[in-house]
Amino acid sequence: MRKNQVGRAMQYITLAMIILTAALLWWHRLGMVRVLEISARSGHAVEARDDHADGGMSRAVLAPENPFAFTCTLTKSAYAWPYCGVHFLLGRDDGGIDLSVFDHMTVVMDRAGPGEHHVRVAIRNFERGFSTVADYRTQKINEIEFTIPPAGSVTIPLGLLRTAAWWNSMMKVPLLRTGPNFDNVTSIELYTGSLSEMGTHRMHVQAIRFEGKWISERQLALALVCAWCLYGASWLALGMVQYRGQLRSEKARVATLTVINRALQLESQQLADLVKHDPLTGALNRQGLRDVLLKDQESNADGQFDAVLFIDLDHFKRINDQHGHDVGDRVLKQFAAVATPVLRGSDKLVRWGGEEFLVLCAGIGQDNAVELARRLCNRLAGMAWPEGLRVTASIGVAAIHGSADMGEAIKRADAALYVAKRNGRNRVEIATGAHAQA
Ligand code: GH3
Ligand code: MG
Ligand code: MG
Repeated sequence: MRKNQVGRAMQYITLAMIILTAALLWWHRLGMVRVLEISARSGHAVEARDDHADGGMSRAVLAPENPFAFTCTLTKSAYAWPYCGVHFLLGRDDGGIDLSVFDHMTVVMDRAGPGEHHVRVAIRNFERGFSTVADYRTQKINEIEFTIPPAGSVTIPLGLLRTAAWWNSMMKVPLLRTGPNFDNVTSIELYTGSLSEMGTHRMHVQAIRFEGKWISERQLALALVCAWCLYGASWLALGMVQYRGQLRSEKARVATLTVINRALQLESQQLADLVKHDPLTGALNRQGLRDVLLKDQESNADGQFDAVLFIDLDHFKRINDQHGHDVGDRVLKQFAAVATPVLRGSDKLVRWGGEEFLVLCAGIGQDNAVELARRLCNRLAGMAWPEGLRVTASIGVAAIHGSADMGEAIKRADAALYVAKRNGRNRVEIATGAHAQA
């Protein structure tokens, strides 16, 4: 995927995440509710309970056609706390249902009877480690007492319920487990209250409704934070991958450019060399000579060269005339090829023009320069040439007295060469005062 495509995809995902976050928060505030209803419709079993078993005289009687409607006759007796009510059975033995997922409970009921209508609701929880199946009283009792209008409803947050102190004392519960618990509820009890007046109370429980959010606010917030963190991390990771890819392609580009640059440098170097050299013989041309002299002056104002040889092939015109220009060219090439190994590495061979060459010598001294010129003459005269030709050269040698003298020295060497020609060719003449004979 290309970079801008990824960027656009990430934009869409960000927008989707924002919308989803807002929608979830909105839904959580206004909905996301789960409900458990206990009513005649839900089919839960109902049992009547009263103080008869404790020696009292109160009586609870379920209506035969609807067990959620019952009559409670509260009667004073020897039993100190007369009560009567019903149990709604939610579980069997030690297997209850989890009501801890709900936030509050709404009791909807009609009643008729003397005085204010006090009601006590208790939620029985089968407590692992404390409760036993054999003894119902060992189940934790979480309770609350409230007043309810003759026909109406009361909503109670489950957090308001308290575990009966007598139960905690009876079961010797450690302090940290004395609070209410609703994770394994076996039954809900609804009784007359401690302040209820004696007499007959008719009660009809329409419903006991438990409500709560599917996800708590805390869980939702945690899930959203996790989702955003995950999203941010994946964005960062993607960015890193892209950055690495970019870096790799940049490096590859730089490497290619470096190769091209080197090739261009080489080419321009070759072109520069071409410009400075004679294409036929490979010797320096006049442009090359100028460069050599400039460099020589840069490194030393007085120059390194102290002798110059002016070389002219003898009767070259005759070679051209008798054997053709091509043979003449081959002779010129061979001359340069033969001269180069005779000269020292620091000597510079220059094609001055036609069949005339210069040799610039550095740190040689006049005597050695003359010696070098003679060696060259002998080498040319003694070797085989194209078409069985005999090729010789005349050489004028002049000492160079500093770089300023270069032009004059060449002229002096030329003059010495002229003397060599006049004196019979294939010889070396020295340009010092009276020109010495080789
Ligand atoms: P000398 O011994 O007095 O030097 O006589 P020469 O014939 O060598 O001298 P001259 O100056 O009369 O002739 C030089 C000839 O060199 C003339 C010219 O045609 C020839 N020449 C110059 N440049 C080239 C070249 O590049 N190739 C060939 N084949 N001949 C060249
Ligand atoms: Mg000439
Ligand atoms: Mg010549």
